[in-house]
Amino acid sequence: MNAEIIAVGTELLLGQIANTNGQYLSKQLTHHGVNIYRHTVVGDNLQRIRQAIRTAAKHNDIVILTGGLGPTEDDVTRNALAEEYDLKLVHEARALEHVEAFFQARGQTASDANRRQALHVEGSEVLQNHVGLACGMVYKHENTWFILLPGPPRELEGMFEKEVRPLLSAANQSHEFLLSRTLKFYGIGESALEARLHDLIVHQGNPTIAPLAGQDEVSLRLTVKDTDRAHAESKLDTLEEAINERCGEFLYGYDEDTLVSKALDRLRGRGWRVASAESVTGGWLSASLTDVAGASDVFAGGVIAYRDETKQKQLNVKPATLQTDGAVSEACAREMAAGVRRTYHSEVGISLTGVAGPDDQEGHPPGTLFIGISSPDVTQVYARHLQGDRATIRRRAAKEACACLLE
Ligand code: ATP
Ligand code: MG
Repeated sequence: MNAEIIAVGTELLLGQIANTNGQYLSKQLTHHGVNIYRHTVVGDNLQRIRQAIRTAAKHNDIVILTGGLGPTEDDVTRNALAEEYDLKLVHEARALEHVEAFFQARGQTASDANRRQALHVEGSEVLQNHVGLACGMVYKHENTWFILLPGPPRELEGMFEKEVRPLLSAANQSHEFLLSRTLKFYGIGESALEARLHDLIVHQGNPTIAPLAGQDEVSLRLTVKDTDRAHAESKLDTLEEAINERCGEFLYGYDEDTLVSKALDRLRGRGWRVASAESVTGGWLSASLTDVAGASDVFAGGVIAYRDETKQKQLNVKPATLQTDGAVSEACAREMAAGVRRTYHSEVGISLTGVAGPDDQEGHPPGTLFIGISSPDVTQVYARHLQGDRATIRRRAAKEACACLLE
């Protein structure tokens, strides 16, 4: 099944907003095994929307239009569909009731403009809007299903979940679909990974392998086309096994996993809490950990110990350590990790000390990094040399700390 997504809105053309609806819909349709044939963005212009509809109908089983279903004069998506196929626009009873009830509840009456939001193309099936007022619709023209959804992302996503997803699941049962799995790697570069997988990449067929380079990480998206879900899963399993044989030591997760979420999962799995003591990263690690919703059951808190005196006062780093070994040292990382663990009564303490640059510090070049991890079993220090400018080093240091938590 092919699909085209048409995002309607002059503000998209002007670059005032990003087409996040297009991204959302692409992801959802792909998940349902629908092949995305094309994305189109068109302004609030009736003739051009008609043209986009006409072209899309030639190539697609499904055409989703988003935006332009509101009450204002420039919202003309439904008019474009109606005019293109010479159809009437009629009020849908339930949607009209929904609009009128909304205004009544606020002691107002719906205007004609508001009532327009309950108009649908005759012969279409109305999609209820549980978040806003404009109704969506599904209309079949010859072999193409047109699905009209509102522009505001919350409304679009709500309508997609409740109304469109069930239709796609039903429609696609007997069809070929695509199933993807993304493998996530850390600690190996894109070209090194490709070199290890050369034979698999050269001889790929179904499933396909697509390497994707991200920030400090590499992913492989495996995609299989099949009609049977269990069969598709097993094909992906077989390919994943072959990949694991070649570079499994760098695989840390799948799909939506991140190094941070995996590190938190690992700690959670052990029933451990972690506290952080950050020098070089100045809180970056703590910020990354708290980016993940629900981190509070694992992350206790942290100390930003940027100056030596803070390291001494808050973390009990010995003055002798700072004098002899320096703040950028294995010994200091060890004492910081143990210290913060005691301060927070957590099972794990993690510390970062190093040089972000641009200048050397204590004779160490930028990129020098020591990560201390103090756990009930042992306190370990990992020495690293990172590449990059100041911001890159700090970002990578926080990631590296999560990678150490996964070791
Ligand atoms: P409304 O009733 O709000 O007018 P509508 O269905 O007519 O809804 P638009 O007028 O096209 O939709 O867009 C309304 C708002 O929705 C936009 O200002 C923008 O914030 C958001 N929006 C529209 N299209 C997109 C898109 N493709 N991606 C992300 N956001 C979008
Ligand atoms: Mg609008």
